[in-house]
Amino acid sequence: MRNVVIIGSGPAGLTAAIYTARANLEPLVLEGIQPGGQLTTTNEVENYPGFPEGITGPELMDQMRAQATRFGATAEFKAATAVDFSSRPYKIEVDGTETVEAASVIISTGATAMYLGIESEQKLIGHGVSACATCDGFFFKDKELAVVGGGDSAVEEATFLTRFATKVTIIHRRDQLRASKIMQARALEHPKVEMAWNTVVEEVLTETGKEVTGLRLKDVNTGDVRTLPVGGLFLAIGHRPNTEVFQGKVDLDEQGYIKLNRFTETNVPGVFAAGDVVDTRYRQAITAAGMGCQAAMDCEKWLEEQE
Ligand code: NAP
Repeated sequence: MRNVVIIGSGPAGLTAAIYTARANLEPLVLEGIQPGGQLTTTNEVENYPGFPEGITGPELMDQMRAQATRFGATAEFKAATAVDFSSRPYKIEVDGTETVEAASVIISTGATAMYLGIESEQKLIGHGVSACATCDGFFFKDKELAVVGGGDSAVEEATFLTRFATKVTIIHRRDQLRASKIMQARALEHPKVEMAWNTVVEEVLTETGKEVTGLRLKDVNTGDVRTLPVGGLFLAIGHRPNTEVFQGKVDLDEQGYIKLNRFTETNVPGVFAAGDVVDTRYRQAITAAGMGCQAAMDCEKWLEEQE
């Protein structure tokens, strides 16, 4: 039986691994289908403290992993496919084949940014297509940009991007935003923000396959197609927490995020959660890492209390 199994290997999971490993708990990290998590799809990370020159997302995650294994964590490129938290020790089915028993569990499976799913968009992720303005906006200085979406994220990201961009077009599929009135007003009244109502992206245009040069847009009412020249496309159509395997096993909110009781505790004793799988607000590598540390400390204390 493992003292602690950490499910997920983004900044939250790997920080929890560093802390629990240094507490001699020899954690097992199930890395999941995307080891390193969302950061591995970002190019440069410039806002993670300690790297004044910036660091690439994959490199940052490699370093966190190395730091965790150095202290005795085991990281395996395997996924939790089912969990049984009904009795202790808890049981985690791995890759549908084996079962691992755990005295405690830290869930850090993150969230997945939603994309439109069109082929040209998928090919250009990290090359002008991004789902995080806070992370990548800085790389688009003096460019015209577009944001897809009509919720709070879309208007917030569009407003944020005006710091760098010469113009930001919000592309929304309806004629009304669902964002809160005050945030809408901030975006709509901004001289650099334009709206493309009733509009969807049909194709992301590129010349070299390494940059975005424009978008082919379609008016959903008239069917008219036009080209919008932009140097970057930001998706703000929501996130989906990666909690499929935890449905009915721990309390989730109506959007599927794990609900916390006290600190990083879920409703199941000895099961903790950290990072984007609980966070609808900050979603930063540094905040996830901070929460991973908190979960590790909560977990360590809980295990001590069981002895
Ligand atoms: P959201 O409220 O679910 O909005 C998603 C938007 O994307 C909607 O306008 C939706 O269009 C559009 N959309 C979804 N799928 C699409 C597709 N395939 N193609 C084109 N458009 C698509 O998501 P969110 O803006 O990320 O916000 C999530 C939650 O976080 C909300 O509760 C929000 O209030 C909160 N939040 C708060 C703040 C803040 O207070 N500072 C900031 C960000 C987010 P329709 O409108 O047509 O459905």
